Amino acid sequence: MRTRPTLTWSAPGEALPRAGSLADVAEVLSRRRVLVLTGAGISTESGIPDYRGESGSLRRHTPMTYDEFTGSADGRRRYWARSHLGWRTIARASPNSGHHAVAALRAAGRVSAVITQNVDGLHRAAGTPGVVELHGNLDRVVCLGCRRTSGREELDARLRAANPDFGGTATRINPDGDVELAEDVVRAFTTVECLGCGGVLKPDVVFFGENVPRPRVQRCYRLVDEAAALLVLGSSLTVMSGLRFVRHAAKSGTPVLIVNRGRTRGDEYAGVRVDRPLGAALGELLALLAENPLPTTAAGS
Ligand code: NAD
Repeated sequence: MRTRPTLTWSAPGEALPRAGSLADVAEVLSRRRVLVLTGAGISTESGIPDYRGESGSLRRHTPMTYDEFTGSADGRRRYWARSHLGWRTIARASPNSGHHAVAALRAAGRVSAVITQNVDGLHRAAGTPGVVELHGNLDRVVCLGCRRTSGREELDARLRAANPDFGGTATRINPDGDVELAEDVVRAFTTVECLGCGGVLKPDVVFFGENVPRPRVQRCYRLVDEAAALLVLGSSLTVMSGLRFVRHAAKSGTPVLIVNRGRTRGDEYAGVRVDRPLGAALGELLALLAENPLPTTAAGS
């Protein structure tokens, strides 16, 4: 069964009961290893827009849904034409100081694991090992017929060969790796099929209205259960896909900390909330922790 896509969420009007500072976050990290859950907000400083931040793309763009992609050849042509340009921008993006800080915290043993809702691969590029990519990654392609996966570079070469006169010019990049493109350019675009079985090719990411594979969800729940605290970085937590881990942590008494610009749907579960841009905030957090070695018991756990 597929979930209904949640595109928006409105923050309740009342003031929030709890806030906090980076010193509070540092205090938790100085005593225990935390699980990090990141969202689009950690990648905005790398030039990839988010959905729901101040200049979020949902204000002007409706992302592709699973039903639209699988249900219509026109929908797929539109996606692949726009993504043909958009993916190159995502592939060129570099990790920013926030991604590097997370990698440093992981290397220092302060972070037990990283789950990201992002599909841009920037945590991996920053050197964080074993990142759980909850919603997949745009650098892979999956065949909906035989489930064979292949690299996006390979598809890019095939799409270039199938569209030698492609005249699209990227205007605005959207988070799901596509760009605004004129309708006549979209109509002239030729898609390609799976080389093995002729099936439909889809980016190996979870579209709106599609479920995250069950084993991946279970793995994340296990990571939450094993963690001493959950630190959310740059997510509005509008989508249940990420929010469920925050609720799960809170329900089991695991402290939740959130660093994010603006309100999130998980604020009511957080003991500490910090409203700061992540690049600067995470740099400051590293500095606060630098002179505070992790207790041996926590480092080894
Ligand atoms: P979201 O757009 O709903 O929320 C992002 C949050 O980050 C916003 O609250 C925003 O105010 C905050 N933010 C933006 N820049 C920030 C900064 N520099 N410092 C601190 N906070 C900042 O994104 P989401 O909660 O991750 O959910 C969107 C879903 O869409 C994700 O699950 C993901 O699959 C997909 N997505 C991926 C990417 C990507 O891969 N880079 C980008 C956008 C969306």
